[in-house]
Amino acid sequence: MRPLDLRGVRAAAVDLDGTLVRLSIDYDALRGRVRALLADAGDADPGELRPLLAGIDAAARRLGRPDVRDRALALIDEAETRAAADATLLPGAREAMLALAERKVRLAIFSRTCRAAVLACLERFAFPPMEVVAREDVARPKPHPEALLRLQRAFDVPAAALLVVGDHVYDAQAARAAGCPCVAVPTGVSTRAALAAEGALVLDTLDRLPELLS
Ligand SMILES: [Mg+2]
Repeated sequence: MRPLDLRGVRAAAVDLDGTLVRLSIDYDALRGRVRALLADAGDADPGELRPLLAGIDAAARRLGRPDVRDRALALIDEAETRAAADATLLPGAREAMLALAERKVRLAIFSRTCRAAVLACLERFAFPPMEVVAREDVARPKPHPEALLRLQRAFDVPAAALLVVGDHVYDAQAARAAGCPCVAVPTGVSTRAALAAEGALVLDTLDRLPELLS
């Protein structure tokens, strides 16, 4: 892999679930509840619903029912907010964010999770102040780069100075689409090989992240 020079990084867009904390959400059960809601609304076969948000959007469009989209998203909000109360902190995550803040790196969460759950996790584990671009803040969620483009403007930094930190190929794909460097931890569903194939520098944990920036 080509070496990634992170010394010019001035801001970081950090994923929440699987990167800083672990939210235990039973996605199969949640998908089942969404499926039941769509069936009630007249869409008995909405397909795979993977990714779930895109599946909901497509189903609501087919039905011509924005209210169904809102109700499906409310089911997700509820599951995420419940999970935030039991979230666990991932190794090195808080220390890494504190170290970046100390170095005056501007910090943001960029997440497909709802804002209430993001804020609950940040407060619960006493993370340093971070901007939040949550699910409800963008029209097109990851892997679309919309959140990253917004953060480049908010922090007034070029793409090369905005580091993406994540655990999922969606994070790495969003980074690549925006032209941002990406560091990833293979804590979740995406393998080390899949993350590296999307151009991410893969670390075992976030412990080593601060030293890469100096
Ligand atoms: Mg994640």
